[in-house]
Amino acid sequence: HETIHIIGGGMAGSEAAWQAAQAGVPVVLHEMRPEVGTFAHRTGSFAEMVCSNSFRSDDDERNAVGLLHWEMGAANGLIMETARAHRLPAGGALAVDRDPFAEAVTARLKAHPLISVEYGEITELPREGHWIVATGPLTSGALAQSIRAETGAESLAFFDAIAPIVYAESIDMSVAWRQSRYDKGETEEERTAYINCPMTKPQYEAFIDALLAADKTEFHEGETAGYFDGCLPIEVMAERGRETLRHGPMKPVGLTNAHRPEEKAYAVVQLRRDNQLGTLYNIVGFQTKMKYGAQTAVFKMIPGLENASFARLGGIHRNTFINSPRLLDNQMRLRSRPNVRFAGQVTGVEGYVESAAMGLLAGRMAAAEIRGETLLPPPPETAMGALITHITGGAEAKTFQPMNVNFGLFPPIDAKGGRRGRKDRYKAYTDRAKDAFTQWLAAQ
Ligand code: FAD
Repeated sequence: HETIHIIGGGMAGSEAAWQAAQAGVPVVLHEMRPEVGTFAHRTGSFAEMVCSNSFRSDDDERNAVGLLHWEMGAANGLIMETARAHRLPAGGALAVDRDPFAEAVTARLKAHPLISVEYGEITELPREGHWIVATGPLTSGALAQSIRAETGAESLAFFDAIAPIVYAESIDMSVAWRQSRYDKGETEEERTAYINCPMTKPQYEAFIDALLAADKTEFHEGETAGYFDGCLPIEVMAERGRETLRHGPMKPVGLTNAHRPEEKAYAVVQLRRDNQLGTLYNIVGFQTKMKYGAQTAVFKMIPGLENASFARLGGIHRNTFINSPRLLDNQMRLRSRPNVRFAGQVTGVEGYVESAAMGLLAGRMAAAEIRGETLLPPPPETAMGALITHITGGAEAKTFQPMNVNFGLFPPIDAKGGRRGRKDRYKAYTDRAKDAFTQWLAAQ
């Protein structure tokens, strides 16, 4: 068989190498560490966990990331098997003893007869052969420049500026209303594309006070180079002046409260649709460095969001990622250069588990291609399928930002307000996913 070259021995590259080799295809895994480091990695091991040591919830019945654990286990994923072997007690979470975990992944890969390892930085996007780019959020500068030259500057980001994302069903529509500013748009759908939450003057003043007082996260050293013009955190905007937000993302002009047309709102928080299904909305312009606990408390002060549940909270991080919905086909290949696949966090998924899962798919897809077959992506009812569908087409390309796995990415169950409670509904999602994933595996 022809060889697959993988750039990056992180979560995604390690899993991709394992899957391809287990499918009988030879792999060369290229890793720049320890020769060239990043500001976050400390070791030369593969699959280093750079920050928290948690794979998050291990509940495969009622949690989307727990379901992803289950699917990776069912697909004989190396990362999941090794994580379980080095599990630490942590209640319902899958916490991992990080150094023995990374050392075990490294040893398993090096011992595989079909895997060889080459250390050193790859500085250019290759033109020949089968490649998987799995270089992660801290892709080296030279390679990032080469990717940028191929994809265009607007399709490669160096920071994520993540606005919080809310489940549409948790927004109180007796307070909020749908309307685009100045009713702009050709179609009714466009004229009602935004959900608006109104604030009175006292509500706005209290909100600004809470923003200023909230706990914030500091940037890591070396992280802020070339930092965020045009996407300031909301708390930094608030520090610049109490009125700044009211003249920025919270301006009330061109909007009429559908519930109380006679009342002029003092400020308005807008939410924009975040996926084609319409199950997720992001709070426009609300990227933030507030700590997660503080975010939930502060955002629930917004009228209409008192009972909001969040598919993900906001953040700003150093994060190299491509605009996958624009650039990749559903085989994770670069449309403009199909000999190159992308996998892991650089594709715009977020987190250790999600990154490893995308590596699992890329490794299997590349191996199938070399064997003259086509491996279709898992169906969107599964966690892996929901993620790959999101990044390769479901997400809006214009506002694409990294995403964790969550049930808002799945085709809805009981969209029209069935009687099932949320917990039962999540169980219905995971039951449906396990069936679909089992069938997908069996068809290979
Ligand atoms: P990585 O695991 O980063 O692997 C990429 C690999 O590619 C690295 O080994 C790197 O050395 C190598 N590489 C890069 N460029 C080249 C090149 N040109 N040539 C050869 N090799 C190269 N996720 C969580 O789930 N929980 C957290 O708490 C968390 N905290 C984070 C904190 C920080 C500061 C950062 C930056 C990220 C954090 N993440 C966290 C995200 C986490 O890094 C990713 O989810 C996960 O590691 C991504 O897997 P990956 O394989 O895509 O990238």
